[in-house]
Amino acid sequence: MPLIKEDNIGVISFISSTILVVLLTSILGGIFLRDQHRHFQEDLQKVGTNFFKTQKERLRSEVEMQIRSINAWHKSARQRLKTTIKARTYEAYAVAENLYEQNKEKRPEEIQALIREALRPVRFNNGRGYFFIRDTQGPFVLYPPNPKIEGPHVKLLPHQDRKELSQKINTIIFTKGEGFIDYQWPKPGGQVHELFEKMTFVKYFKPFGWSLGTGEYLVNFESLVQEYIIGTLNSIIPSDTDPEYIFIYKLHAMNGGNEFATVLVNPNRSDLIGKKISDSFKDIKGKMFRKEMLQGIRDTGNAFVSYWYKNPGSEEQGLKLSYFKYYPEWKWIVAKGISLDVMNKRITQLQKNLSQETKKTIRNFIYFIVISSVSFLILGFIFSKGIHRLFLGYKAIMEEQQHELERVNTELKIQSITDSLTALYNKGYFNEHLEIEIARSLRHGSALSLLVFDIDKFKDINDTFGHLAGDNVLKELAHLCQINIRASDIFARWGGEEFVVLSPESEIKNTIVFAEKLRRLIEGYSFSIPVQVTCSFGVTEYRDEERVDSFIHRADQALYTAKQEGRNKVVFR
Ligand code: GH3
Ligand code: MG
Ligand code: MG
Repeated sequence: MPLIKEDNIGVISFISSTILVVLLTSILGGIFLRDQHRHFQEDLQKVGTNFFKTQKERLRSEVEMQIRSINAWHKSARQRLKTTIKARTYEAYAVAENLYEQNKEKRPEEIQALIREALRPVRFNNGRGYFFIRDTQGPFVLYPPNPKIEGPHVKLLPHQDRKELSQKINTIIFTKGEGFIDYQWPKPGGQVHELFEKMTFVKYFKPFGWSLGTGEYLVNFESLVQEYIIGTLNSIIPSDTDPEYIFIYKLHAMNGGNEFATVLVNPNRSDLIGKKISDSFKDIKGKMFRKEMLQGIRDTGNAFVSYWYKNPGSEEQGLKLSYFKYYPEWKWIVAKGISLDVMNKRITQLQKNLSQETKKTIRNFIYFIVISSVSFLILGFIFSKGIHRLFLGYKAIMEEQQHELERVNTELKIQSITDSLTALYNKGYFNEHLEIEIARSLRHGSALSLLVFDIDKFKDINDTFGHLAGDNVLKELAHLCQINIRASDIFARWGGEEFVVLSPESEIKNTIVFAEKLRRLIEGYSFSIPVQVTCSFGVTEYRDEERVDSFIHRADQALYTAKQEGRNKVVFR
């Protein structure tokens, strides 16, 4: 049974387009959703890692910025120290020069004493600063911290550092007249062997061959700057809304220990400022994060460490990530931390935004798919209806053509077996059926009679009344006989004005009676011409196994005899 039939073609085309749309939609939708899901998962990861990376970078750059700022202060401290000691030395020089000029008439020893004692009590830089005068030969002329070592009679122990310093001073004053000298020197009151960086400015006082100057330990000056930085940073108090802050340790022992550092800056824990701290300290999860920090500082000079610590503005503990960087010039560890809780909240928020974005995209896509699918289905429905209608139209036309063809065929068939004038069977049809009936008669042993009749003197009728009237007589005669002949008999026009009747299952005696009946009927019929019309009849019966020709010929013979014997009569043979 064929799947596609005329009454389901519309439904089938609709179903197939529906299946197509659903299939395409599912495949496209599936691919899109899978892609979207994968991107979403990747982005979700990326949001977290990117944000974390950005925050780490920010932390690093902020700490580095702080160190650059500290370094700038450090450098400027040095510069200001230089300016200060140079200005002081110039002041002392001006005093010395003035005393020298005012007392020129006095003896040099007296003038020297005047200058020396004028400068001796002068103090500056919180009392630490003083002036010194050295003879180019080496001995001190003025050394306020320890006047005992003043004078040429004092024999100082030959000390390598001192010798070098003397040489440096002499080199500068003899070549440039004045200048700065950087050197290492023990601090008064400190350990003899502990040396500190010191800076001195010297100027040549030519009249006595002196070098006049003042110096300062850098640490002393820098500590002022450090105090300023520490004070400033400690005053930037963090809060729970703004929890980030800089904190600084002063490192004492790079390898750690119970007092490895002192807290200089920590605005979150002001109680710790100035206190020594241990690297064995554990956070609430038991992590010794300072050891990890120190390890990083030792390895690379910086470290990222995460640990639990008190949140600013509350007593709660929170997980934080801090970046530590070492500033070796001052042995400071400068650090800044961010709250991982805050960061995770931020990441969660970003991920939530992302998932909302994704959901929106997917929703829009589904709307699009549904609307386009429904549109396709509606179009498909209309299309299938159209196809069905078109199909029915073609079918109706085809059926009509089929009927016409059959009608024409039937007509042609009828025409092919019909005589056009009388509407009786023609000779061709008769001959065909004669064979069939002979065969049937032979098969069943039944009788088969043949009757031939011919209008008498028909030529005269034509001649007298015209050919048209003759035609009318032929038609009337055919009709007259037709209505009196059995349905099973085959009545045909044999040609011209001659007719035949084949009577199956009819014995000759009955056929003779029938022929006689016809003869009388014609003789008594009133035709459309004003003269009597008669016919002569030849009757015969089929004889066993004889040929068709002889069967017909015998009937013809009988008819011929009837004509011979005066016409309008029945002769049988
Ligand atoms: P007989 O009694 O010996 O049969 O005489 P007849 O005049 O009928 O015989 P014949 O064979 O000499 O003439 C037959 C005539 O029938 C000749 C022909 O013109 C006429 N005829 C044959 N067919 C037709 C036809 O279809 N229409 C008309 N009007 N005349 C026809
Ligand atoms: Mg004839
Ligand atoms: Mg005739």
